Amino acid sequence: MIIDCHGHYTTSPRQHEGWRNEQIEARTAGKPPPPRPTITDDEIRQSIEGGQLKVQRERGTDLTIFSPRAAGMGHHLGDATTSEAWASACNDLTRRVCSLFPKNFIGVAMLPQSARVSPKNCIAEINRCVNEYGFVGINLNPDPSGGHWQDPPLGDRYWYPVYEKMVEYDIPAMIHVSASCNPTHHTTGAHYLNGDTAGFNQLMNSSAFKDFPTIKFIIPHGGGAVPYHWGRYRGLAQDAKLGLLSELMLKNVFFDTCVYHLPGQELLAKVIPVDNILFASEMIGAVRGVDPETGHHYADTKRYIDRLPLSAEEKAKIFEGNARRVYGRLTATIEKQSAR
Ligand SMILES: [Zn+2]
Repeated sequence: MIIDCHGHYTTSPRQHEGWRNEQIEARTAGKPPPPRPTITDDEIRQSIEGGQLKVQRERGTDLTIFSPRAAGMGHHLGDATTSEAWASACNDLTRRVCSLFPKNFIGVAMLPQSARVSPKNCIAEINRCVNEYGFVGINLNPDPSGGHWQDPPLGDRYWYPVYEKMVEYDIPAMIHVSASCNPTHHTTGAHYLNGDTAGFNQLMNSSAFKDFPTIKFIIPHGGGAVPYHWGRYRGLAQDAKLGLLSELMLKNVFFDTCVYHLPGQELLAKVIPVDNILFASEMIGAVRGVDPETGHHYADTKRYIDRLPLSAEEKAKIFEGNARRVYGRLTATIEKQSAR
């Protein structure tokens, strides 16, 4: 089985994002938000069959761990109340995709975060998404301000209410920012990779893994700059007397393969142990074009992994085994959803 651990519902029916605009406009005008729009099962089917499902079939993958559109989370917009209503609407829609295509999609929750609002307010949505919707993970935004970094670093106790829930439910968090509202940081070209890199570094300089020895984080987009600069982080850990970086981080931190060229994948697989790499493509995501050098989509990451000098067993870990290990509830959820 080939499990893509990083996909977003980027093709949702138009009225979903339309409602979001109306919700924010209403708040600005001091009015209550309009009722949520009607979205039919057929509209959802259409958006998936011509989109993510088609791409799964074309690229030969089986299952996508699926969450709401990351850039659309927009935690910097509105306040805690608007974030709550929007996260709920996004998670509801993601759940409907997983119900309509139970063999192809398993859900991960977006959280109702807001800058400088305690993430304690995310607990109810985590409970709902795990217990009622069967979701197997969360996306945690380390910078709900959208590029201004107004919250404490991820190692701070500020985040511990979420970490307690992650351990209780055995769900990992993908550290994933949303859109940037800071024009110096392009959303997918800079802010995403900054978020990945900063998130890793924040956890490295903290005692979070001493306090939560079984907690698991996935750093997306190939780990941002981390694998490329592994030597720098090893050296920083050494200078700060934090011990060996691999011992400090690799029981708790995993990297996905959303790296859009072969040399990058080769570096990732050379630097990071196979046990810490999870297959992902983030389709249909930031980079949608075809690479003229290869004639294939940049985001068709399976092609790169297929070409890595690894054994079949090692590739099976990247494609399937590691995801089942990191997402503690995944295997049971696959069995449950396949039986439907
Ligand atoms: Zn993503």
